[in-house]
Amino acid sequence: MQKTRVTVARGDGIGPEIMNATLRILEAAGAAIEPEFIRVGEKVYLEGHPSGITPEDWKTIYRNPVFFKAPITTPQGGGYKSLNVSIRKALGLFANVRPTHSLFPYIETFHPDIDVIIIRENEEDLYAGIEHQQTTDMVQTLKLVSVPGCEKIVRYAFEYARAYGRKKVTCMTKDNIMKQTDGLFHKSFDKIAAEYPSIQTEHQIIDIGTALLATRPDQYDVIVTMNLYGDIISDVVAQVAGSVGMAGSANIGETHAMFEAIHGSAPDIAGKGIANPSGLINGAIMMLIHIGQPEAAQRIQNALLKTIEDGIHTGDIASKAYTKQRVGTEAFANAVIDRLGQSPIHLKPAQFDADPGRPITIPPYVRPKRTRQLVGIDVFICNEDITPEHLGQMLEQSAGNDLMVRIVTNRGSVVYPENHKETFLSDQWRCRFVKRQEGVSPDKTEFLPVDQQVIIDLLVRLQQSGLESVKTENLYFIDGQRAFSLGQGE
Ligand code: NAD
Repeated sequence: MQKTRVTVARGDGIGPEIMNATLRILEAAGAAIEPEFIRVGEKVYLEGHPSGITPEDWKTIYRNPVFFKAPITTPQGGGYKSLNVSIRKALGLFANVRPTHSLFPYIETFHPDIDVIIIRENEEDLYAGIEHQQTTDMVQTLKLVSVPGCEKIVRYAFEYARAYGRKKVTCMTKDNIMKQTDGLFHKSFDKIAAEYPSIQTEHQIIDIGTALLATRPDQYDVIVTMNLYGDIISDVVAQVAGSVGMAGSANIGETHAMFEAIHGSAPDIAGKGIANPSGLINGAIMMLIHIGQPEAAQRIQNALLKTIEDGIHTGDIASKAYTKQRVGTEAFANAVIDRLGQSPIHLKPAQFDADPGRPITIPPYVRPKRTRQLVGIDVFICNEDITPEHLGQMLEQSAGNDLMVRIVTNRGSVVYPENHKETFLSDQWRCRFVKRQEGVSPDKTEFLPVDQQVIIDLLVRLQQSGLESVKTENLYFIDGQRAFSLGQGE
């Protein structure tokens, strides 16, 4: 069989230990891969490469469609960008597939029947990494969520469920609070679910969803969710199943894919030779299926299951009842290699030769024609020692003939025209201007079309009045629907 060239990074912390162990298993199992090693992570950051990867190694990553990566350490602070996020975005790896199965009773868990696939959106949400300190008090991060991003990942989850004979897809969001961003994800879910009538669907708010996943994980099948929530709940369910050290992960894009463990570089146990390599081994198994080598994947999976069933365990999965030999990383890998060709007796053996393994393709996004109507502007003002009433008066004076002040909020709560002395006031004020409507009180105003030039003129007048604008957001109606949130109390 022709060997598939794979970019391989040994990573940081326990990374080199578990990667070396996994590569030995791959070789012994006859996996037809040709590793091309690159250096990524902490040392490369500290050499002055802000993405943790040298320009030369970026070329290798782009050249090879498959990347196999051990965990890395992102140095704290100092403007270092997360290497994982950079790779996912640079290669368009939009779908993060994270399966978790319980291996009861050999790995202790209160939940013997976990078999959950978490499909996490991998490029958007709070991981855009766009953050600003705008005033002395206030820092913001942008949560970016797009229609194509939502539709792509939701469709991927349904296609995955269909390809692998899964029965139910659960969507988790926080759209009771974030009605625009999480609301869009939920709406996309409802829209695309209608195309898959044979698959059962449900939506849960992420907080109760996480609690239920931790206590009744056997009730879930496929979960599709946003980037941050998916990151958190996949660690939760992996730990509930026994250990975060067991779970592997596939990052899938149209042209490239990256495979890894879900856990980090575990600096607390690095260099001790005790890390569990199973998470990375499971990542390697997903990689072999992806590159069309299901036989090797199956041999490794069955040997791994047999090792665990035989009671050969690393410390993180050791138990009084089922551990016969507590081993380190190398000895665990040797035990897996010794069992290549064997299958578990009590645990369900893997059967990958019949695996669909078919590439899931998502049709290209076709942007619909939509109408956008400008209906006002939010101007964010920095001011440390002004009262809401005084600010309101200054804003009214600057509003001009075409605009009027509808509300001022502080940290989202309305403080003008109505103010409650209990509301805490920061130094950042969101001032909402809409089309002037004579004789109408601010709370009765409608959102009517305004001209862009009117807004530009307003910004000039605000600046002349001595108010410092630190950011603006245009207010739009899209296809006749309000496309921005109201203030609390608006
Ligand atoms: P972590 O996942 O590295 O460790 C959490 C806990 O789980 C630790 O107690 C650790 O000892 C244990 N653990 C993790 N993997 C294990 C394994 N294979 N065997 C046995 N025990 C294991 O999370 P963290 O401590 O929050 O993060 C450490 C570093 O990893 C940070 O720099 C973080 O940015 C980075 N990180 C990288 C990735 C990645 O590269 N994909 C993912 C998450 C975190």
